[in-house]
Amino acid sequence: MLEDKDRIFTNLYGLHDWRLEEAKKRGAWNGTADLIRMGHEWIIQQIKDSGLRGRGGAGFPTGLKWSFMPKEVGDRPHYLVVNADESEPGTCKDREMMRHDPHLFIEGCLIASYAMRAHACYIYIRGEYIDERNNLQAAIDEAYAAGLLGKNAAGSGWDFDLYVAHGAGAYICGEETALLESLEGKKGQPRLKPPFPAGAGLYGCPTTVNNVESIAVVPTILRRGADWFQKFGRDNNKGTKVFCISGHVERPCNVEEAMSIPLKTLINTHCGGVRGGWDNLKAIIPGGSSVPLIPREICDDVLMDFDALRDVKSGLGTAAVIVMDKSTDIVRAISRISYFYKHESCGQCTPCREGTGWMWRVLERMAEGDSTTEEIDKLLDVAGQVEGHTICALGDAAAWPVQGLIRHFRGEIEERINSYRADRGGVSMATVAAE
Ligand code: SF4
Repeated sequence: MLEDKDRIFTNLYGLHDWRLEEAKKRGAWNGTADLIRMGHEWIIQQIKDSGLRGRGGAGFPTGLKWSFMPKEVGDRPHYLVVNADESEPGTCKDREMMRHDPHLFIEGCLIASYAMRAHACYIYIRGEYIDERNNLQAAIDEAYAAGLLGKNAAGSGWDFDLYVAHGAGAYICGEETALLESLEGKKGQPRLKPPFPAGAGLYGCPTTVNNVESIAVVPTILRRGADWFQKFGRDNNKGTKVFCISGHVERPCNVEEAMSIPLKTLINTHCGGVRGGWDNLKAIIPGGSSVPLIPREICDDVLMDFDALRDVKSGLGTAAVIVMDKSTDIVRAISRISYFYKHESCGQCTPCREGTGWMWRVLERMAEGDSTTEEIDKLLDVAGQVEGHTICALGDAAAWPVQGLIRHFRGEIEERINSYRADRGGVSMATVAAE
């Protein structure tokens, strides 16, 4: 278990004052100018050495991503854009960092922007996060007043401005290029890649888009050293991580823990266990609604990290753990998730626009049992046609929950189909339609 002395977020629960003076006592803004004076390359190398992988879902190595930015500033300015759109169902970690520890995050924006030679950073925050935005803006105002932002920010010699922009509630604006479009005042629709943002991002300028947590951990990693961060987790899955645990547990919570903690330990230690005991567990979605669920047998000993969850055909995603006990109608639960992705599809590509709605409609019938076993295979086939054939990852996000359901609970779907038929003398509307 992670010891208190190793926690980066010491005010995750808002038990202390989030304002500047108290934040400084907890370590924020400590020696910021000295860290910046170590130079752009030193900072990037430290982040590479720490093994930090992006905390927004994809898990791409943060230092490596930073190193894709041009080494010299040409005729186009560089930008850091922070993705605070946090809309993946089940995920509620960034909001607590912005609400309760904004100064750690703001300091991270300055250091990361300096590392990538950016004099301006935009935080794109989810429109519904009103308290978070207010606290964040108040903290930014405090930082300006204290000389920590603006000209010669924190006495570092680097001029730096930080802006907050808020979204209007579209999930797709959490996709980095849709976010950039939205920030530019356009409709939030993903761009075709390449070019990638490091080549042509915000206003066509070199840009890096990072998640809030990826940026907020940077100052502490630099202060305590890459080796310290490397102490936690398995190879290739290093550091501490904020997990959000919701659903059928005794005490849902956000908690910072070491990467690679066993899922069972995470739930039993921090959430008081599964409602009704571990044996009452049915399945868990371990990384936000877009990753495939895993059944209890896998939950028994899987580790919470990128590689372990990939090996069981799921993913760490945003580390939003959604627990479902045996009272859950699993087919209906996945159908509801499918509705979400249908609703949030931006409509640019046919497999996503048409496929998400088709999958949802079939799942709605399957939840009733009004389907056929052949249709299960067809659903799997269509999910495979959506996955990997779209402009952005929303197509994958819509397909994966469906694939996970069929992989692990096909028997339950078939049982439901059989009992629906038995109740109606062996006929279902799906059969009639097929004939
Ligand atoms: Fe839009 Fe879906 Fe295509 Fe993404 S995959 S660009 S959300 S239609």
